Order: sequence, then C-alpha cells, then structure tokens
Amino acid sequence: MRLAAFTADGHSHVGLVDPTGHTITALDVPGAQAAYGVLPIIQALAEGKPLPAATERRFHVEDVQLNAPLPRPRRNIWCVGRNYHAHAKELSASVFKDNDANPEAWPIVFTKVPECVVGPHDAVHVPSEVSEQIDYEAELAVVIGKGGKNIAKTAALAHVFGYTIVNDVTARDVQMRHQQWDMGKSFDTFCPMGPWIVTADELDGTRTRVRCWVNGELRQDGPTENMIFDIPTLIETISRGITLYPGDVIATGTPAGVGMGLKPPRYLRAGDTVRIEVDRLGAIENKFI
Ligand code: MG
Repeated sequence: MRLAAFTADGHSHVGLVDPTGHTITALDVPGAQAAYGVLPIIQALAEGKPLPAATERRFHVEDVQLNAPLPRPRRNIWCVGRNYHAHAKELSASVFKDNDANPEAWPIVFTKVPECVVGPHDAVHVPSEVSEQIDYEAELAVVIGKGGKNIAKTAALAHVFGYTIVNDVTARDVQMRHQQWDMGKSFDTFCPMGPWIVTADELDGTRTRVRCWVNGELRQDGPTENMIFDIPTLIETISRGITLYPGDVIATGTPAGVGMGLKPPRYLRAGDTVRIEVDRLGAIENKFI
C-alpha cells in the first residue's frame, strides 16, 4: 500500500493512495495524530494494532496538498554518505578526500535534523546569505517498521516498513568547512520527502532506480543494486548498539551526478526546479527559491 500525508479542506489527513496514484482515501485518524503523518500508523502497526479504517472521504491527488509522509520525524534522519561507487569517485578530490585507505570497510553515517523536512512539492529556500554551493542528492529512503537493536543483516528487511524519496539537499561549502556534515545538511527546508511511503511488500528497495533532473536535465541515474553497502548492511550497521524505532528514516546515499561532481561544478540557484523519481515509488519535485 501507499500511505500519504496530506492537507485538504484546511485539515491534516493520512490516506491510502490507490494503485494508479490518482486518488487518496482518508483513513480514520484523529487530526492531532494526522499532523504527524504516517508515523502514528507505523507505530501502531509495530505494536500489533490494526490499520485505521478507511473513511468515505476520497480525494483526487491533484486537489490536495501532499505533505511529507513523515512531516516531523521522531528524531534525526539517518543518512549514508558515499554509497555508490561512481559518486565516491566524482567527489574523491573534495568531500571524500580525507577518508581512510579502505573506504569500503564501513559506511559514512551522519544525520539531518527532523525540522528540515518539507513536502514533496514544497519550496526549498536557498540560504544565499550563508552558502554559495547548494547541491541536490536524490536518494531512496528506508522507513523502519519494527524497531530493534543489533539487527542482523539476514533479519534486516523484516524491520523495513517501506520506502520513500528524499532530496538530501546540501550546502557543500558548509559541509566541508565544519568536518562534521550535520550543519551543511540541516538548513531549514533541506529535506524534501515524499510523495508517500510505499510499503515493503510492494517495492523491493534493492532493485529499483533513482533519477534526478534539474530544470528538466537528467543529472543522476543510479540503480540501487549499485549501492556499496546494501540496505540490510546499513540497517545492521546503524543498529549496532543503537535502538532503531518505528518511523526512523535511513537515507541510503546518492548516485553519481551531483552538482559538485560536474566539471565545472554547477550549484543550485533560486528559480531552479529539482525532480527526483524512484521507479515504482513516485516522484517529488521542488522549486528552489
Ligand atoms: Mg546524501
């Protein structure tokens, strides 16, 4: 199923998107909970409770405002750096320059603050007063269902609730300046997410494709089979000594083709539009202002 968070008639709702992607049926979720999007449903299902009942209210997708499926994640978003070989190579002279001799021993893991999440069609603010190097990173994101700690690779996919798309928007100059990446990755509006969550029974995150266009020009195109660390390995790694909770998000890294990797680099400017599509999941498209 596809679970979406949306606003219609001035109220927050959570709903089931039909297989064609054209209509959404609202679920019977109280308004206060619906403001948290799909999160309360993921938590309830993890506790063995049933999916809320469908209501009679059905909307056309184009008549509603889609919100991020997790508009305010319960804590920071886990993110993975350097997870596609070609991307590792394109930034080997800059972002990944100082990495250890064996870059494939362990993944790079950092986080983005939950407050930077915006919806699949919301504007992203270019903070031109603090950065001149705003970049896009198209990514498949894993949403955790059943929580756990020290999750073995072999059991990891049973902990996946579903998948969504994120744009791991990055201020490259700030990312490089502070050694740790969290600041350059966490500016307000720097995590467009959506358009919904597709549950793991419908999408195999290990065999899909991530593409990104800037103003209609294809920049990134990576099959997820090309990940250096596959999704089970990422879950095993991040849950080592750290409990993962229902609704946790892991952005799995971006393929080659980011603006910084182009020669010369091409950064985003106000007025640009970035579209990200993941096969069998959907698309997000955000204007940078
Ligand atoms: Mg990234």
